[in-house]
Amino acid sequence: MTNKELADLIFPNVTKTIKDYEKMYPERNLPKGAVVSRFAPSPTGFVHMGSLRSAFIARKVPKDTNGVFFLRIEDTDGARTVENGIQGIIDDLKNFNITIDEGVVSETEQIGEYGPYIQSERREIYQTFAKHLIEQGMAYPCFCTPEEIEEIRQMQELNKERIGYYGSYAECRFLTNEERAERIKKKEPYIIRLKSPGDFNKKIVLNDLVRGKIEFPENDLDIVLIKSDGLPLYHFAHLVDDYLMRTTHIIRGDEWISSTPVHLQLFQVFGFEPPKYAHLGTVMKVDENGTRRKLSKRKDPEAAVSYYHQKGIPVEAVNLYLMTIANTNFEAWWDQNQTLGIDDFKFDFKKMSVSGSLFDLEKLMNISKSYISRLKASEVYDRLLVWAKEFDTEFASILENHKDYAISIFNIEREQKKPRKDYASFSTIKDCVWYMFDEYFVGDLGYQFGKVQEKEEIRRILKTYIEKYYDESDDKDTWFHKVRELSSELGYCADMKFYKENPDSYKGSVADVSTVIRVATTTSSMTPDLYEILRLLGKDRIKKRFQVFDI
Ligand code: GLU
Repeated sequence: MTNKELADLIFPNVTKTIKDYEKMYPERNLPKGAVVSRFAPSPTGFVHMGSLRSAFIARKVPKDTNGVFFLRIEDTDGARTVENGIQGIIDDLKNFNITIDEGVVSETEQIGEYGPYIQSERREIYQTFAKHLIEQGMAYPCFCTPEEIEEIRQMQELNKERIGYYGSYAECRFLTNEERAERIKKKEPYIIRLKSPGDFNKKIVLNDLVRGKIEFPENDLDIVLIKSDGLPLYHFAHLVDDYLMRTTHIIRGDEWISSTPVHLQLFQVFGFEPPKYAHLGTVMKVDENGTRRKLSKRKDPEAAVSYYHQKGIPVEAVNLYLMTIANTNFEAWWDQNQTLGIDDFKFDFKKMSVSGSLFDLEKLMNISKSYISRLKASEVYDRLLVWAKEFDTEFASILENHKDYAISIFNIEREQKKPRKDYASFSTIKDCVWYMFDEYFVGDLGYQFGKVQEKEEIRRILKTYIEKYYDESDDKDTWFHKVRELSSELGYCADMKFYKENPDSYKGSVADVSTVIRVATTTSSMTPDLYEILRLLGKDRIKKRFQVFDI
């Protein structure tokens, strides 16, 4: 029986050839140097921070080179598939502004000429490629049961040999085509394996774009190409899909690096030029006890991308952070080019850290602070409102009821050369501004008024201030001048320099007096510019707040 006859027996319905598919999916007509890359997750429903970083880079490189980025769903492993798993991934990518040129855009919709982009819809294509290998004598049906595979493993352990289905251990390699045909006709279950041409004692070299040259022993395992359900296993699907989708760059996490000998061999067996590989260092975290470990889905809430959405950390800040861990030179570049964005920066594989990136949430929050500080007050308002409508509806309606007032609050010490950086995320803004809203404010004499502790004295300061000195129409200089006058009148030093020289001659200083006013109006001794706060609150509201102190 010829190999061709065996191949027809196994795949009677496969009538197309590889050539037919090559015609259907011709080489892409792209400018020189254009990169085609992809994000290829299993439909597990969500994207982990590590894979978001991979997707981000796989998106960035085609953007820099006028190439193509596509989303392919790798659902041939039923165990990793969850209900609505595709939509979750699409939403996560969308939330982080990772747009796709081709691929899966919803559970039911795909765009692009190189699809289908869901592996379970590509069964016949994989089978065509497998059929070709059987015809060439480079693949064969394997009838070994799990028990037989286990026996082989035990024997290898006993003989202290490498574990796996290879060489003389690959029993089904040695069947004749007649024996194979007979067992198939008897309906024995089988899978299709590669007849690996590799020699474990020889080396192959991967020229990784991040890590440079890496040597591996050649693969000699007869890996599974097609499972008994007719669908491919990951390695084979990678070959078929990335060949036909004309992927130029495989950008993925370095957990896949050990698979590359298999991948390179598959390309070699078919006589196809392999794509370029870039294996990205693991995203790690320093534990409380100082050890480095992989960022973990289970232990670290910040590993789930939904965390950023809930916390109201701007997507742009996360992307800026991803860029800083992707390319070591980005941060310095961004510092010097504050008005430019990620799109203006050219990603470089050579500027990646090989040892992996440390995920530093504190740094991300600092980037977020910087980013939010550069937004216009009205943008802060709009984006905070979107966040609050989902996560704090009470605050959302307060914001809606006082739109202009809220924008003015966000405008304090903003839109200037060195804007104030106190909002680390949208979820923390309420903690910074709640006292400006009567809905939240509660006056109380129990606050920490700083140096001035005596209630009578606090009353005296506030009463004198509101009755004699505070005038809404004062400009900032006049306003401050009056706080000094108030201080002098009540026995506090109006000038900090004099006060420091002679602290014992006064009850305190102008700073202590301002603190009393600040705490009485805001409850806090640390706030943005007091002049602005008082101006926004307005005299009536200030008076009302002082009433708590029987004034
Ligand atoms: N489906 C693989 C994953 O789940 C894709 C690996 C690759 O990018 O080649 O990560």
